[in-house]
Order: sequence, then structure tokens, then C-alpha cells
Amino acid sequence: MTEKRIILVRYDEIGLKGKNRKFFEKCLIQNIRKSFNGIEGVSIQSPQGRLILYTDENTADECVRRLNYVPGIASMSIGISVERDFDAMAEVGIRLIQPHLQAQGELKFCVRSQRSDKSFSSTSPEIDFEVGSRIMKALSEKGLTVNINHGDFVLEIEIGQSEDVVFDNRTPGLGGLPVGSSGNVLCLLSGGIDSPVAAYLLAKRGCRVHFIFFDNQVFLGRGGYDKVVKLSKLINRYRGRGRLYVVPFQDIQVAIRDHCTPDNRVVLYGRMMYRIAQKLAEQNKCQALVTGESLGQVASQTLENLAAVSDVVTGNVFRPLIGMDKKEIIVLAKKIETYETSIEPQPDCCSVFMPPRPATKSRIPILERDEGKFPWQELMDKAIADIEIIEP
Ligand code: ATP
Ligand code: MG
Repeated sequence: MTEKRIILVRYDEIGLKGKNRKFFEKCLIQNIRKSFNGIEGVSIQSPQGRLILYTDENTADECVRRLNYVPGIASMSIGISVERDFDAMAEVGIRLIQPHLQAQGELKFCVRSQRSDKSFSSTSPEIDFEVGSRIMKALSEKGLTVNINHGDFVLEIEIGQSEDVVFDNRTPGLGGLPVGSSGNVLCLLSGGIDSPVAAYLLAKRGCRVHFIFFDNQVFLGRGGYDKVVKLSKLINRYRGRGRLYVVPFQDIQVAIRDHCTPDNRVVLYGRMMYRIAQKLAEQNKCQALVTGESLGQVASQTLENLAAVSDVVTGNVFRPLIGMDKKEIIVLAKKIETYETSIEPQPDCCSVFMPPRPATKSRIPILERDEGKFPWQELMDKAIADIEIIEP
């Protein structure tokens, strides 16, 4: 017979949302259910500010693995139901601690118990002591020590109304808010390292993130397209279900090359991207644009040039990486598992027709004068009409 498992899911930020808590909780539960697609027999309850998932020993680890991709979770732990008996609790504790102890050679631990059923005659400190000392007796010679305030492993025991449960050490979750609780945004996704991280950060704040990619297959081939499809799939693992809009951008780039000042090209590309992105955001109820720009990282990301691209749109533009160093961004890109795909060599359309010295301090009136040399509307309408929509 398979043994029952209980996964306790804690959420801190949602817990703080007062009357909205039910809404956030519902969102989180929905996302968790979707993430368990293909796993049978998990039931979810939501008593007082946390979630309890009932599953079994065969699926519990896989459930936790998937919960690692669900924003809105502060931490989780797998528990085993036990009889109300110190020996039985200690036995489960030993089973849970042993693999960690073996892997690390030594381990500091403590027991923390909670009683919601006050009819149990022992107090929490007494339970901690009784169970803790039994575990020490079994494992102290193998390197286990007690550390009440700084344990590497905290064995948690809940003495409940309907059952008693011994929990494994907590696993931290992603934190943040459940996707879908904050509305929709549109991320300008290139194949680079930065924009996937920016998209993830907004997903973690509860947004459904859709993606827009400006493609130039005529000059650069299909590599960028394939890469961005891959990246949007990777980001969508964080419960996103974002769509990818691919805009054919070559005609606009050629027109910029043929009619505008070479030094302004990159910023003019950016302004056209922003205009088209805003149009698409309006059509699809996205309340902000998101980019991977970081101040001063490249010539196109000076204060002047950022202002010059923002100038063509009226809505929110979010740049969650603006104050981050490349190194810090890379740490996050590795954590969210987009880094390996992002570093596959593939030029971005911004690098097409690059002048030797692109302008770093663009002035808006000069850009406007440059843009006045060509009727863009037709090309922009065509680019929007030819957008390919992908469900990654
Ligand atoms: P990234 O690593 O995200 O590509 P980057 O350091 O290469 O950024 P830029 O090329 O200046 O910087 O691009 C700045 C931002 O503009 C990107 O983070 C992205 O949001 C957007 N962007 C650039 N190129 C494209 C593109 N081809 N399609 C969609 N968005 C783009
Ligand atoms: Mg780039």
C-alpha cells in the first residue's frame, strides 16, 4: 500500500492581502492544479492562511518539484501522518533526517512542534524535547547535533484536530504573487540574456506575461525565431501561458537604413519597436511594456536613449533590470534556466546595419526630424497585420 503524504504550502505575501486574500488564494490554487497536470489524485484544502495538499509517497516529490515553478509560494514541506506517540514521531523524524545527514556528514537540527489540539497533555517544548532526544539517541554518533536557533534541519510537528503530522525540512518557494493576480503585460523579448529575466520578474509579481519579438529572418535567418520560441516556453513554465507575437521587422529596418541618419539607427529601431508593441498591448489588454534594459549596459541604454524610446509611448514601461549589473542578471538567468539558451550565438535584429559609432545621447527633436523623412504608417500597419501568433 502506498503511504499518504501531506504537502504544506505557505504563502506569506498573499496572506497579507486582507479581503483580497480569497482571490489570491484561488489564483494560486488554480495555478497549482494546472501545474499538476498528469498527476492523479491530489486534493487541495485551504485552511487559515495556508494550503494543504493530500497526495502519496509516489508523487509527493514530483509535486514539490513542480511547485518550485509556481510564483506565490513562500515555502513548502512534505509531511507524514503519525500516531500520537513520541516513538512513532521520532521514527519518522529519523527517516526524514537520515538522508540529509548521510549526504552532509554532519547536521545541526531541532524539533519545532505546534499544537492546535490543546487536549494533548504535553506542551510544545515537551514534545520538542521528547522527540528530539529520541532522535539524538539514534543519530548523535552519526554526526547529528542540536541547534535550536540555527538548525540546518528543522523537523516540524503539528498536533492537529484530525491528525498529527511530522514535516520534513522546509523547501523555499519562489515567493512573489500568483500569476494572473496582477493583470497582463507585454515583454519585448529578444534572444538575449536580459529580457527573459525581466519577463520572469514580472511573472513573479503576478502578471501574465505575453511576448513580442521583432524578427529579421531575411537578413539573419531563422535562428532568432527558434531561440525566442524556446525562451518563451522556458518562461511559461512559471505558470505563464503567455503568447508570443512575432513581428516581421526587416522592411522597417531597411527603410530606417535607407532614409535616416546611420548613427540614430539603433534608437530608431527601438522607437519603432515600442510603437508597435504599444499598439499590440492595447489590442490585447496588456497594461505595460516590459524590457530587459539596464542602465548604461550598452550604447542604446543611456538615460538619453531610454528617454528617446519611452517618448513614443504613453503607457507604463517597466524595466525591472534597470539597476542591476550584468553579473547579477546572469545569476538570475541561470536560476530560471534561460541562460544556456540565451547564450547560443545568434545576432539580434538591433545589430543589423550598425554604424561604427551609434549615438549615445540622442535628442528627441533630431530623431523626430529623421523620422519625418519617411511615411511609416503603411509599413507599420503591414508589420502588425503580418504578426504571427504562437502559443509556446
Ligand atoms: P537582451 O539581453 O534582453 O537582448 P541587450 O542587452 O541585448 O538585451 P538591447 O539589444 O539594447 O540590449 O535590447 C534592449 C531591450 O530591447 C531588450 O532587453 C528587449 O527587451 C528589447 N529588444 C531588443 N531587441 C529585440 C527584439 N529583436 N525583439 C524584441 N525585443 C527586443
Ligand atoms: Mg539583445
